[in-house]
Amino acid sequence: MHDDRFTEVNEEAKEVFGPGERVAVLLPLPLAGPYDYLVGADQRFMQGDIVDVPLGNRRATGAVWGRATGEVDASKLREVHGRRDVPPLPKALVKLVDWVSRYTLYPQGAVLRMALSVPDAFDPPKPQAAYALAADLPEYRSTKARERVIAFLRGNPPLPAADIAREAGCGASVVKGLVDAGVLASIKIEPENDWPRPDPDRDGVTLSDVQAAAAGELCESVGQGFGVTLIDGVPGSGKTEVYFEAVAKALTLGKQVLVMLPEIALGAQWLARFEARFGSEPAMWHSELTAAKRRDTWRAVAEGKVRVVVGARSALFLPFQDLGLIVVDEEHDGSFKQEDGVVYHARDMAVVRAQMEGVPAVLVSATPSLESVTNVRRGRYQEVTLPARHGGADLADVSVVDMRKDGPARGRWLSPMLAEALAETFEAGDQAMLFLNRRGYAPLTLCRTCGHRLQCPRCTAWLVEHRLVGRLQCHHCGFQTKPPDQCPNCEDTESLVPCGPGVERLAEEIQLLFPEARTVIAASDMVHGPKQAAELVRMIEEKEIDLVIGTQIVAKGYHFPGLTLVGVVDADLGLSGGEFRAAEKTFQLLYQVAGRAGRGDRPGRVFLQTYMPDHSVMKALAAGDRDAFIDAESQAREQAHMPPFGKLVALIVSGRDEAAVDHAAAGLARTAPRGEDVRVLGPAPAPLALLRGRHRRRLLLTAPRGVNPQAMVRDWIGRAPIAKKVRVQVDVDPVSFF
Ligand code: ADP
Ligand code: ZN
Repeated sequence: MHDDRFTEVNEEAKEVFGPGERVAVLLPLPLAGPYDYLVGADQRFMQGDIVDVPLGNRRATGAVWGRATGEVDASKLREVHGRRDVPPLPKALVKLVDWVSRYTLYPQGAVLRMALSVPDAFDPPKPQAAYALAADLPEYRSTKARERVIAFLRGNPPLPAADIAREAGCGASVVKGLVDAGVLASIKIEPENDWPRPDPDRDGVTLSDVQAAAAGELCESVGQGFGVTLIDGVPGSGKTEVYFEAVAKALTLGKQVLVMLPEIALGAQWLARFEARFGSEPAMWHSELTAAKRRDTWRAVAEGKVRVVVGARSALFLPFQDLGLIVVDEEHDGSFKQEDGVVYHARDMAVVRAQMEGVPAVLVSATPSLESVTNVRRGRYQEVTLPARHGGADLADVSVVDMRKDGPARGRWLSPMLAEALAETFEAGDQAMLFLNRRGYAPLTLCRTCGHRLQCPRCTAWLVEHRLVGRLQCHHCGFQTKPPDQCPNCEDTESLVPCGPGVERLAEEIQLLFPEARTVIAASDMVHGPKQAAELVRMIEEKEIDLVIGTQIVAKGYHFPGLTLVGVVDADLGLSGGEFRAAEKTFQLLYQVAGRAGRGDRPGRVFLQTYMPDHSVMKALAAGDRDAFIDAESQAREQAHMPPFGKLVALIVSGRDEAAVDHAAAGLARTAPRGEDVRVLGPAPAPLALLRGRHRRRLLLTAPRGVNPQAMVRDWIGRAPIAKKVRVQVDVDPVSFF
């Protein structure tokens, strides 16, 4: 086999394996490590090559990981079948996989699986069948539709049949009929492979002096190796415009760029701004891509054809050949933490990838995580701040509504103050937003007669009524049922009552108070996919909507100039439960929500409805003193030895057999590592003690910052007696404690 890939490469830089040598091949499976194979005659591989190998009596696809250990007897080794026609995984990605595996304690193969998520992309795209007019047109029966096809093809290049049918406005059978009649001739064309090239040289907005200085600092770091910079600036201060300059710089240097955003589905405005700045859209990477798009994008990233990718957390494992910059926008956002499969934090691992690549990482937020702020204070990250809103508009004025004395009448959720502010806003022709982080109609349905609460049969959770679709739903496992006519416990009829509000119930109150207001509910179960999200954004921007009632999906990143009032219906919602990050998360969310108000030329107002007006979160929001909050929170964490001042590793023990789960959890507690300053708490029932029918217990290891608990935890789990039917999930640096 002639393989000219090796004539050019610097063989020192890449590990190369020739005939008769042994290679370690990592398979995207939860195995303990790579398996050894033999390189056959005529074969040569380099690290990262994607290869087919025999595995038992089937074929598996994996990646050449390095030299084999040589422990397996040569006679037992089997030969690699061959290499797939796709660029090898870049060295930095190979290193990242190993690093993430070591850090998170998930098997290398499980991590590799995230990097090899699109097996269809390992083969070059097949030439497509396309059709053109035959050189000599035979006699044929003429119809209007047929003539449209013929006329279309006179003026256009050959196309696949489906495209011709669409363009000519006829059915596929018309095209097929013409093929059968010999009027159209089949030819092969290369599939279209044009990726737009974002143009860094177009003019962006004219940056203010402060913005220009910040952009200058960022740009200077591009091309200068690894480093992390935090862009910290109030909402609307131009953080996006500023990091666009760094993106432009990386593009100018001929590098690829990765921009990570939470919940890409809502990036319609972001995309429009990117296009305005760079003249074309970036490639997107998120869960709603079609299989074909996913395949093309993965391959184009591997071939270096795609210059900029904007994506959700899984974009981190794309095979960039020549990355120059990673941006993590809304870096504090909880959705960067993946909670199932391999449990990892994409923001933290983005910094690791940047380090492996030797390129800068830029973290962006108006409410940076305590982790990032602390890294700045420790001198590990650089910081650039944008202290004011662009155009000088002030941040919104925040009022705290004390629901204990100024609350609404029974059965209502909007205080008189907030209702009046809404009236004034509509009167003035402005827009308002009510924020309530609760989907559905009511979070709880209760029997008035016996006190029974409707609960999910598979989870420790109440069923949430979704009145618009007439269902009760579990928000944890997706269980659904029709609302019962009578109480399942006491069988009383008409005794079930909804308790508490969800966004649907608020809409009902608005309908009563402001029947004229054009209202839309924005929640993840009402907005399906990027198209609907974009349409919603357009309607708000063009003022076809007076009031948005939304959950957290509208809290982030949007810029609606007409919005002057934000009402937070239940500011206390995130504070119950007692997780150590509760205050930080609530502050971040409410600050972001408040930041939606008054982004245009008129000032904004924010009302926080709370039963805890003296809580540090409410006080900091009312005073507009974010830094005071961060300082206080930082001190509290330090005293409690909680992250980022201490290390946490959580173990979640789960299974269908409760006794077996308890037994395993007790076993883990008994064998727990104990050392100076290393402590293990638990087992305790998880807040969701039952989830999808599995019983769950938690243990929590705490250690000082200097200690790397990974080795300890690996050893611990290895030692403990754990029955096969019980699963132990490791969560290093847990963010949520569900
Ligand atoms: P942030 O990311 O900090 O929330 P953005 O970058 O989204 O801020 O900027 C908010 C709005 O202000 C956007 O519409 C943006 O285009 C506009 N903007 C920011 N800086 C400038 C500038 N220097 N000139 C014109 N418009 C700007
Ligand atoms: Zn459930």
